[in-house]
Amino acid sequence: MPGINIQILIAAVLGVLLGWWVSGLADTSTTREVVLYSSGIVGGIFIDLLKMVLIPLVFTSIAVGIANLQAHHQVHRVWMTTLGFFVVSTSLAMLLALTAANMFKPGAGLELSLFQDAMENFDAKQLTMPEFFIHFFHNLFMNPFAALADGKVLPVVIFALFIGIALVIGGERYRNILKLLQEFLELIMRIVGWIMVLAPLGILALLIKLVGTQDIGVLKTVAGFIGLVFGTTLIHGVIVLPLLLFIVTRKTPLWFLRGARDALVTAFATSSSTATLPVTLRCAEEQLHVRRDIAGFVIPLGATVNMDGTALYEAAAALFVANLVGIELSLAQQLVIFFTAMIASMGAPGIPSAGMVTMIMVLQSVGLPAEAVAILLPIDRLLDTVRTAVNVEGDMVGSLVVQHVTDR
Ligand code: ASP
Repeated sequence: MPGINIQILIAAVLGVLLGWWVSGLADTSTTREVVLYSSGIVGGIFIDLLKMVLIPLVFTSIAVGIANLQAHHQVHRVWMTTLGFFVVSTSLAMLLALTAANMFKPGAGLELSLFQDAMENFDAKQLTMPEFFIHFFHNLFMNPFAALADGKVLPVVIFALFIGIALVIGGERYRNILKLLQEFLELIMRIVGWIMVLAPLGILALLIKLVGTQDIGVLKTVAGFIGLVFGTTLIHGVIVLPLLLFIVTRKTPLWFLRGARDALVTAFATSSSTATLPVTLRCAEEQLHVRRDIAGFVIPLGATVNMDGTALYEAAAALFVANLVGIELSLAQQLVIFFTAMIASMGAPGIPSAGMVTMIMVLQSVGLPAEAVAILLPIDRLLDTVRTAVNVEGDMVGSLVVQHVTDR
């Protein structure tokens, strides 16, 4: 039996091929129905299992991570490097998107009337900048039990930060609680190990369903835009991020890819950085050798606020919509897009298609029609695969960079 990494890789390739085969079957075919139905169930269970361990994992890994960092007086440096890395890598992603979109002008020449129906029937939720901020800040601090029960990651991260700091300030007094949390974290990681045994099957099922249900006709109409987003996201994931990693840590791209592969494939198949988090943490600690206190802090935080792929997509999509409706955006307007897309990607939760919701804010920031999101919806599931993989990659690269910088 090949190792789990190889199994996951085989499952991913097989999933795409089988999905392709299913997409060729007639809509009425029973085989198609049975395959899609059963993949839906198996894939769904795999995601549910990951979500099952998510919240206790995030809570304990951050609390323990912070407690250990504080104890070593490194916390300030870790904070600054983490946030600095997040801002730099997200900015590079958006620069790439804006440059490519200005060069290739996706959407120019496409007839908007093709999409009129979709836009008219779409009820865009208004999400203005002030509303977004109210929502964002309101979601930072929450009754921890409500957040735990709802699976809301960001408030859990914040609550765990407080607990971690309190554990250190309390010192000896809370030694037993810290020990308990450390052991609980190990216990959860053991369960994550069991879930990983099912990962090949889950990934196979998710990819069959994803590829099998794509509408090729729609994809063809906006092929230029899809190509641009895929291309730039890949350049960011394959060249920019590995280059950043190499410059700072001298770790080679191949070494990184080998260690990060399971998390990247899981992110690709689930389209959710949050659901992938248990796998990301495992890869960072066990294969990329990031210390638990660093990984436990950088990765859960990154899964919710560091989204290079999402920021890149939102910036490119705004320019695409502008081309469609025939508006030429000035440099100042593109700068507004740059900043709004950065904030929007930070506010987007790590779930499938989350970027679509915060995207409305980006469109509105320069007066583009929010209804245009309707055009992007049918292709979103497909584009979400690579952008989530790059979101997760950014978190792992971030943890390696932070470890390197703070260890010096
Ligand atoms: N699906 C992405 C993620 O989980 C978020 C997005 O929709 O851009 O990272």
